Amino acid sequence: MNNFQYKRVSSPLAAITELSKNPAAKLIAGGTNLVDLMKYGVMAPEKLVDVNHLNFDTITKKDGLLHIGATVRNAVASENADVLKYQPLLSQAMLAGASAQLRNKATMGGNLLQRTRCGYFYDVSAPCNKRVPGSGCGAMEGYNRMHAIFGASSSCIAVNPSDMNVALTALDAVILVSGPKGDRKIPISEFHRLPGTHPELDTTLDKKEIITGINIPDNNFAAHTTYLKVRDRISYAFALISVAVALDLEGTTIRDIRLAMGGVAHKPWRLKEAEQMLKGKEATVENFKMAAELAMKGAKAYEHNAFKLKLAPNTMVQALKTASGIKG
Ligand code: SF4
Repeated sequence: MNNFQYKRVSSPLAAITELSKNPAAKLIAGGTNLVDLMKYGVMAPEKLVDVNHLNFDTITKKDGLLHIGATVRNAVASENADVLKYQPLLSQAMLAGASAQLRNKATMGGNLLQRTRCGYFYDVSAPCNKRVPGSGCGAMEGYNRMHAIFGASSSCIAVNPSDMNVALTALDAVILVSGPKGDRKIPISEFHRLPGTHPELDTTLDKKEIITGINIPDNNFAAHTTYLKVRDRISYAFALISVAVALDLEGTTIRDIRLAMGGVAHKPWRLKEAEQMLKGKEATVENFKMAAELAMKGAKAYEHNAFKLKLAPNTMVQALKTASGIKG
């Protein structure tokens, strides 16, 4: 690990100033991803700016929104009474992520910025356009079992590893950020990027901006949500496929619906066409299967991840069945 400077800040302005002064500075909160990346030599920030003591550690429910501060720990958010009551999908997704120890440390802001778990990204002897732009992609012709089936490019086929981000995408969350030019709100659909020709960029966050919180607008989904994660072992493993489902049911009719998939793309993958197809329809296995077929339009597999082309629609159908209470 490289030597680095450490500075604890006590105001958002001080954090933004540190980032503005030094482009090689990085924020640290829980550090559950960044410290690993530093140990592996994947990232070598000159300065760590500790934001743990900023006043972003509250969860509030008012004005049609659930607000969660950026430094709220994942464990705290997943057990919070308002999260459980109003946005249980988020709690389900967070509890499916990492381990209890990691959730105690990891923050909401840090989870949004979690980097891919592509093995070639962590192996500094391998080519990786995300780690060293222009060096190539080791996964493209390599062992790509965990990799993308949607939205990949010839530069990068990595996936976003976060469970939380999939639920936030289904729930139309808005990311609150602050920077030298002031505050702005970024819909989560515009926060994470597809790799394109710049896979080194995971998000649209400017290097001088900090995340201050997350807003989730009120909805009528709380009674029918499911986060289904398929992985190699039951705990402490990243998703092969995950599906977030939120349903607003009137009897067995789907009044409204949100669907997002994880483990399939460089960003959480919202399934809007499938949502449109199911809206107003009966919650039946037949309709769920048709929606899953639609959701897979444009999917492309690589040498070792063709199984995802079957696993993804099957997971989606099962998640819809669970959320709606449909048997069969
Ligand atoms: Fe790097 Fe992306 Fe290729 Fe993985 S898939 S080796 S992260 S460029």
